[in-house]
Amino acid sequence: IIFIKTLPKAELHAHLNGSIPISVLQELAREYVASAPLSSKSVSNDAIRAVIDDLLNGVTLDEISDFFGLFPAIYALTSTPSALARATRAVLSLFLDGEYPQCTYLELRTTPRETPEMTREQYLRVVLGELRHYGVQRAALIVSLDRRMGNEVLRECLDVAKKLKADGEPVVGVDLCGDPMAGDVELFREYFDEARDAGLGVTLHIAETKQNPTRETLQLLSFSPDRLGHATFLDEEAQKIVAERNTCIEICLSSNILCRTVSAIGCHHIRHHLKQGHPIAICTDDVLPFRTSLVGEYALLMAPKPLGLGLSEAEVKAVAEMSMQSRFVSMAGVKS
Ligand code: IMP
Repeated sequence: IIFIKTLPKAELHAHLNGSIPISVLQELAREYVASAPLSSKSVSNDAIRAVIDDLLNGVTLDEISDFFGLFPAIYALTSTPSALARATRAVLSLFLDGEYPQCTYLELRTTPRETPEMTREQYLRVVLGELRHYGVQRAALIVSLDRRMGNEVLRECLDVAKKLKADGEPVVGVDLCGDPMAGDVELFREYFDEARDAGLGVTLHIAETKQNPTRETLQLLSFSPDRLGHATFLDEEAQKIVAERNTCIEICLSSNILCRTVSAIGCHHIRHHLKQGHPIAICTDDVLPFRTSLVGEYALLMAPKPLGLGLSEAEVKAVAEMSMQSRFVSMAGVKS
């Protein structure tokens, strides 16, 4: 385990609101329940308690769509600048502090959210205010665009991301995320083009479920993404494009298994990429519901089959190096 802990590695796919330590979320929940009158609450106290109980007991998901039902409650708890700052601080500390930090470098991603207390720009500034303490060599931000967003919100998110980057903030990329069945991805093309022109890296959640049509996967690949999230259900044509371009795939083993898009580690698409020597980055996705850690995900690579993938230290080291090589920070030219 010391080998894994000391291995230089980059966490490139972690969603802020899915990575809050449960103890911090519990604190925020206690304050929420004890605060403001019921009428001003977006989520009821009972609903908050139910989600905290689920998270404590270990969520069981019948399918990936169940997963997105957790977020309204989490969002209710991180909707003020001070709560968001606390949550962000705790997430950064979880990945980057301690004798053996989980990773050498973290690209944290989050969806700019407008709340009664914050504009989207203020939301991102709060997150960046915490992230800045670590320096751009250790932590940077990816702005997530949710598949449910419309033109007006996308325009606002893009303008803010570009402005922050131009101000020298460590904003290094944009992401497409959210319920994989929502929205029409064509709407996003111009925004990802614009992001790339502004020097931002592009990563897309793609082919996350069996239901995502091939047409959509090919549309997303035509955006020329720099990295791909999950890419679980690429058909032959899509696989050929990804192989030719050598596009890094962000692999989230526990997430895929717990969301039931992959039935077991023994049949995970990572095996194909390992065999081909294709660039991958091992990532956690959402440590809060999936109760994992980056060290835990790397341990799955080394654990003997059938529990893990039975990789050698040399093989795991090569995988970790791929994650470091796939960082956006080197391509975004942000000031350190
Ligand atoms: P946030 O962007 O910091 O608010 O983190 C939570 C959000 O990340 C969720 O509301 C989803 O939109 C997104 N997210 C987290 N995990 C996944 C995933 O596995 N697939 C797609 N989107 C995800």
